[in-house]
Amino acid sequence: MDVIAGIDSGIDRLAGAFAGTLLRPTDPGYDAARRVHNGLIDKRPRLIARCAGTADVADAVRFARDEGLEIAIKGGGHNVAGRATVEDGLMIDLSGMRGVHVDPRARTARAQGGLTWAGFNRETQLHGLATTGGAVSSTGIAGLTLGGGIGWLMGRHGLALDNLVSAEVVLADGRVVTASETEHPDLFWALRGGGGNFGVVTSFGYRLHPVGPMVTGGLIAHPFAAARDVLRHFRDVTADLPDEMIVFAGLIHAPDGSGEKLCAFVVAHCGTLAEGAAAVAPLKAFGAPVVDTVGPISYCALNTMLDGAYPAGALNHWKSSFLPGLPDEAIAALIDGFARCPTPMGQILLEHMHGAVTRVAPTATAFPHRAPGYDLLVLAEWMDPATSPACIAWARETYATLLRFASPSRYVNYLDADEEDGAIAAAFGTNLRRLQQVKAAYDPENLFHLNQNIRPVA
Ligand SMILES: Cc1cc2nc3c(=O)[nH]c(=O)nc-3n(C[C@H](O)[C@H](O)[C@H](O)COP(=O)(O)OP(=O)(O)OC[C@H]3O[C@@H](n4cnc5c(N)ncnc54)[C@H](O)[C@@H]3O)c2cc1C
Repeated sequence: MDVIAGIDSGIDRLAGAFAGTLLRPTDPGYDAARRVHNGLIDKRPRLIARCAGTADVADAVRFARDEGLEIAIKGGGHNVAGRATVEDGLMIDLSGMRGVHVDPRARTARAQGGLTWAGFNRETQLHGLATTGGAVSSTGIAGLTLGGGIGWLMGRHGLALDNLVSAEVVLADGRVVTASETEHPDLFWALRGGGGNFGVVTSFGYRLHPVGPMVTGGLIAHPFAAARDVLRHFRDVTADLPDEMIVFAGLIHAPDGSGEKLCAFVVAHCGTLAEGAAAVAPLKAFGAPVVDTVGPISYCALNTMLDGAYPAGALNHWKSSFLPGLPDEAIAALIDGFARCPTPMGQILLEHMHGAVTRVAPTATAFPHRAPGYDLLVLAEWMDPATSPACIAWARETYATLLRFASPSRYVNYLDADEEDGAIAAAFGTNLRRLQQVKAAYDPENLFHLNQNIRPVA
């Protein structure tokens, strides 16, 4: 009773100057605010602090410290492991902080931590500018950038985090600092790949590049029966791509709900339309596709074309690793695994990485995975909770059969909630030791631990 009364008075003090909204479990809006993208996650924070600005975030961090509450930080809420929410702790919800300011002359943007790529692209494209962002527009800029940022522009401009020039961060002690190459450079290094381990990033400064507004992109889908030849062609094509072009392959289901299995190329080319048309011609000429939407498309539309496949609230379980190559045996295992997929929303994706993203040294930022290759994602997604055991088992079993083709490295942003300790070492690789030291300097008590956690080691 005393404990609850103590926290209530703490909430009253926090509420005094708080410009945003504080939501308790009985408040209207609480239920919607506590939800994250993955419908499998069902946690009930003791309090949701929907912050309106950096001062709210600093007060919320101090409040959680004082009350001994665990902190979860919600950017876009897309993390499949549900790290943006917490049972019985404090959710620092940044969804009220979605401002973005573009400086077209300097080709930079400053964007608040609750923004999604839809909002970011809309404002930057107003000036014909962009930076590497997520392929699904509802994903948050925060989690995606802090963990990496695989996207359509990475061959030309690197990952999202390679385009970060500064970040405003609320630290564990409530101090507000700016991290950049010249201010808190160790923290700046760690933020670029180390996820939400070091503080709450209230705003991100990005470098922008001229892109579009029209680019070349779309999807080419072949019958599943042709998957072996399609994936071999994918392997050949990805051996030599211009930096401007990204090709992903997907074993997917037809979006009409029929359950028909397909094997698709998803394509983006950010150069001129003439260069794009020439570059995609070999893909368009290959085989006998049942769908081909590849052609001129606005950059904003390119970044929403996949949104429909990932509805908010769908149930998700993911398994992911990097494949350095795509031998015939791996192609056979991928096809065999997908043939057994129990959900008409399930997919296996191969996200090819080359170009600028692979020309950054593994230790230059905290993101170590710089070798050309494929990020494999076994993505179970479904709507009916009754099928959860079958869908989760499929993701795990399929992944297990593919592990022999994988390198011992994992993309931190695709790790799910059931990973073992080794996943952290696989995610941070050669950079783990330095990340632990930066963690010890900036968050020695591991206040920010509801993430893919880096433990402080001085
Ligand atoms: C449908 C879908 C599509 C995706 N597509 C891509 C893609 O194209 N490319 C890619 O690289 N990844 C992609 N992802 C993965 C994505 O990068 C991660 O899910 C990422 O965590 C999402 O960031 P968020 O802000 O939306 O997530 P959240 O769940 O809000 O946060 C993720 C993590 O970051 C921390 N965090 C969030 N905001 C902050 C902040 N402001 N300061 C400090 N820490 C913070 C959280 O505590 C949590 O640990 C996709 C995910 C989904 C579900």
